[in-house]
This record gives sequence, C-alpha cells and structure tokens, in this order.
Amino acid sequence: MVGAGYVGLALSAVLADFGHKVWVIRKDDQKNEALKKGKTHFYDPGLDDLVKKDLASGRFIPTTNYKEAIPNSEVAFICVGTPSRPNGDIDLSQVFGAAKEIGKNLRKGYTLVVNKSTTPPGTTKKVASILEKNKQKEAEFEVAFCPEFLREGSAIEDSRHPDRIIIGAESKKAIDILKEIHSKVDSLVLETKIASAEFIKYAANNYLALRIVYVNQLADICEKSGADIDEVIEGIGLDKRIGSHYWYPGLGYGGSCFPKDVAAFSAYAKKVGETDTIIKKMHQLNRKRIDKILKKVEKKLVTFSGKTIGVLGLACKKGTDDIRESPAIKVIEILINKKAQVKASDPLAIENTKKCFNRIEIFYDPYRAVKNSDAVFILNDCEEYKKINFDKIKKTMKGNFIFDSRNILDKTKIEKLGFNYMGIGK
Ligand code: NAD
Repeated sequence: MVGAGYVGLALSAVLADFGHKVWVIRKDDQKNEALKKGKTHFYDPGLDDLVKKDLASGRFIPTTNYKEAIPNSEVAFICVGTPSRPNGDIDLSQVFGAAKEIGKNLRKGYTLVVNKSTTPPGTTKKVASILEKNKQKEAEFEVAFCPEFLREGSAIEDSRHPDRIIIGAESKKAIDILKEIHSKVDSLVLETKIASAEFIKYAANNYLALRIVYVNQLADICEKSGADIDEVIEGIGLDKRIGSHYWYPGLGYGGSCFPKDVAAFSAYAKKVGETDTIIKKMHQLNRKRIDKILKKVEKKLVTFSGKTIGVLGLACKKGTDDIRESPAIKVIEILINKKAQVKASDPLAIENTKKCFNRIEIFYDPYRAVKNSDAVFILNDCEEYKKINFDKIKKTMKGNFIFDSRNILDKTKIEKLGFNYMGIGK
C-alpha cells in the first residue's frame, strides 16, 4: 500500500485483518516509527485498535522502504493524495511519483498495480507507461483502477462493508486477483473498463456534491417563502426516486474530497471540450456559499467586530479530526478578519486546528468555548451538540444568538429558552 493517509492506512488495516500481508509504505520516518508502535497520525473510529491487532499478527508492516515492500508483493496499491492546483486542475505528482518508485522496484514476474487514488479517466494508463519506463526488463505488470468510497469518520466500517466494489481491469487475471483480495467483503462487485471505474468515482462524488448545492439553493428559497427546508427534505425524500439520504443544507460541501473532486472533474470536462457544465456552476456556487450565509448572520448580529463568538465544531464533519477544507476553518478566518474574538471546541480536531490559528482559544469542553460569548455558531454535525444543555449555556453567555449551520437543534425548543435562533432554510 503506497500512501498511509486516511485511505491507505484504513484500507491496510482492514486488508491485514482479512488475512493479507500488507506493507504500508510511507515517506515520513517519524510517522513510520510511530506506526510501528501502533500510533496512527489521525483519528478514525476503531482504527487504532485494529492497527495494534494487525501489528501483533505480523501481517501489517509499516515501512519507508519500497525495496522491502514492492518485490515481496503480488499487488501494489497506489493510495496517495490527489490535491488541487491553484487553478483547480488536479495535481497528479504524488500518483506519478508513486508509480515511478513502484516501477523501479517491481520484481521479476507478475505484479498487479492498482490505482486507488481518485484520478481522472486516462490516469491509470499513464501510470502504466511510467511503470513501463522504470521497470527492469524481466518485470511484468498490469494496471487496474479500484475506486475508494470510504468516508472519513467510518473508514474501517466502510472498508469492511462497502456498498459496492468497482473493479476496473482489463484481464481475467487482474479481476480474479482483486476479487480474491476482497473475498471477505460481502458487497456487490461490478467489473468495468478502467476508464469507466475512474469515471464512476468522479461521477458519484460530483453527484453527491450537486445534491448539497441543490439543497442549499432550496434552503435559500425556503427562507423567502415561509417553507421549512427540513420539512421539504422529508417530503421529497419519501419519493423513492429521490430518497431521503444525503440532503444536508448548510455551509456547502467541504472536506478533503468534494471540493477537489468537483474542481478536478470540472477541469477534466473542460479539457475534453465540455465547457458549459453544471459541475463548473456548482463549484462556483459552493465557493460563494460561506460568504453568502455569513452576510446574513452578520446582519443579525449587526457586526462581527468586537463580538465574542463561541464556535462548536471544527472538523469537516462528525467522527473525524480532519479539518481539510472544513467550512468551520473558513468561517473562523472570516470572523478573525472581521475583528471578532473566537473561542472554539471540537471533540476530535483540536490539535489540527491549533496548527492553523495561534490567536484563538480552543477547548475540549463546549461549555467553556461558549462562556461569555455574544453568539454560538454550530459549524458541523457532531452528535455531541444535540445533547448540550442549552439552558445552562444561555446562563453563561453574554448574548443570546445561535447560528445552527447544520439544523441540528430544535428551533422551537431553543427559542423557548430565550435564544435568538438562526438555522438554514427556516
Ligand atoms: P492523504 O493526503 O491523507 O494521504 C496520502 C498520503 O500519501 C500522504 O500521507 C502522503 O505523504 C503519501 N504519499 C504521497 N506520495 C507518496 C509516495 N511516493 N510514497 C509513499 N507515500 C506517499 O490522502 P487520503 O485522504 O488518504 O486520500 C488518498 C486518495 O484517496 C486521494 O486521491 C483521495 O481523493 C482518495 N479518497 C479519499 C477519501 C477520504 O475520505 N479521504 C475517500 C475516498 C477516496
């Protein structure tokens, strides 16, 4: 497994638990030494315990040495980052760098090289040409693409029980190997062309992002029409063609995947001559979302300047410590620029957030973050915030304003406590 990030590490842990021997290749010596002792560099439920179990089994081998790992492997997975360039294009340098290292170390005989990083159609073919250029004469290889659909916050569970496994491969041998690797997963397997598998990952993520953009537009129109977006979602969700899942009005899509995957797919569509796309439009709308909402919030507070804001929720969503492209981080940047004082809380993402800001106080305890504040901003969907005693909070606050960006509180109940409540689409 080349790459020990959120995907590579979770997947390695699950594959080792299934009984495979997994070399986990990473670049960082310090993190590698820590991993050998069972210390992971991010949080995901169940990951630490599984890694410790795998290490004890001897089937999970952290290393920085390709020479140790690749020649001993029947299959090499590429699981490295695919960030956006400033212009929105995808940066494939980690994928191609990994391919070069794998190529140089391929053993005599056959190895299947599986790309799992999210990459545009055609990339896996380019990986093949890099492998070809760098390999020894006697080395044989094939490439495949197997998209990853796990979600941070449930990575282990998702890896064990994915909705589907997509195998993009061109030979029976490659398909059989990938089926065998996943034989302990009781999910539907779909065999496709490599380019289709690459496309499926983008098509899925872009569709999910589109639902978020659409529901945000509905929410904004609801606010002007006396409708309540939560009731609207319930009503439309009962239509089986639409379904009730994944309708989240809020500050727009964030996290480590959607923003870059929408940007990359939009750039890819343009490259192949499709310039007038809904993908491009939704990317633009989503980028304006936080500013649009914060303008409305600021109007309610008259000004952010000089206000003390207690922020609840820093990670991009519940169950993770990942703050990459987290709406909360962008909101805090705006609040600081507008001269507000910010105190914040999150159950998991405190250490990561401290690396971004040196001027804000961050507490594990949400009650401390909101004490003496003019307003409370709930900026992700952490379950903990539903259980907070807002009556107690009200007594310690200076002001009485709550901005609930994920509609997790009951508006009527909160208003009864004397709060001035602002949700989304209500
Ligand atoms: P990440 O940034 O957390 O991890 C990638 C890791 O690869 C980094 O630690 C980096 O140092 C390492 N790396 C880069 N080049 C390397 C090399 N040559 N050798 C060894 N290690 C190398 O990224 P991630 O979140 O794990 O995502 C990986 C891929 O999976 C991306 O393409 C992403 O879009 C996709 N994906 C992510 C998720 C998710 O929820 N995070 C879900 C599905 C798919």
